Amino acid sequence: MTEGQDLSTAGPRSGYRGRFAPSPTGPLHAGSLLSAFGSWLLARSAGGEWLVRIEDVDRTREVAGAAAAQLSALEAFGLRPDAPVVYQAQREPIYQQALEKLLDDRVAFECHCSRGQLAAVGGVHRRCVARSNRRDPAIRFRVPDNSAISITDRIRGHVQQYVDREVGDFVLRRSDGCWAYQMAVVVDDAAQGISEVVRGADLIGSTARQILLQRALGLPTPRYAHLPLLLDAAGRKLSKSARAEPLDPSDPIPALRSAWRILGQDVACLLDATDVKTLLERAVSNFEPGRIPVKPGRSEPPATSHKR
Ligand code: GLU
Repeated sequence: MTEGQDLSTAGPRSGYRGRFAPSPTGPLHAGSLLSAFGSWLLARSAGGEWLVRIEDVDRTREVAGAAAAQLSALEAFGLRPDAPVVYQAQREPIYQQALEKLLDDRVAFECHCSRGQLAAVGGVHRRCVARSNRRDPAIRFRVPDNSAISITDRIRGHVQQYVDREVGDFVLRRSDGCWAYQMAVVVDDAAQGISEVVRGADLIGSTARQILLQRALGLPTPRYAHLPLLLDAAGRKLSKSARAEPLDPSDPIPALRSAWRILGQDVACLLDATDVKTLLERAVSNFEPGRIPVKPGRSEPPATSHKR
């Protein structure tokens, strides 16, 4: 039995289990800390559990050593998971099992279309346009017509997406054999008994696809909360793969204070906390989820604790 399956049998007493699920594509930056800290705060202030999962299914984007660096940064920021870290690369047989169910139920199919062929028909897959079979077909999920999925996001309110028109039949396993994020995340959130998915707003457009997959696999739908994005001085989203300034694990206080401010919280509560433990304790007892803004935040230039 895997760690994830173990966890699903014993839910947290509060009924709340959250998670932070970084892809190891580079070091954590201020935007990653916002997701980690935000999901941790929501879990802790609800008396819930908080888990960490390394989403290392995309071998082509993985950076050697990044997962270990991410985990040691989380430790330096005092954000400790309540269970052993789960690595998606070790869970491929479980994704395969889920895929077989979808294939048997005829809601997944082999697709031989190339990117170029799909681009020529507007980029949204509704039926196969390939003229010949390839040796390495992708597997897609068949999105029914009129798939209007409604989400009530804890921060952003009501959001609706027509997955058939706006996204189309989406990939579950790529032609290079890698598992798609949508497939792995749905299987693992359910296996780990995640009750609340808290992550950056850039992923809200994936949520409807994940709900469709949960329904097809007979899995529960967690609650969702999409945190504000963090933009750089030029208004771009910070991203690990675009080499955003990494966090400095030797100086966690300024970055935690800055994430707290971007989460819309009262900065005065943390002013006299000078060590991580005290800061996190204060943060949990003063956290007000209703103050989390929808609007993106701006990252601050790097600062050090002694300057404040
Ligand atoms: N692995 C994704 C990332 O690093 C996050 C996935 C999620 O939280 O659902 O952006």
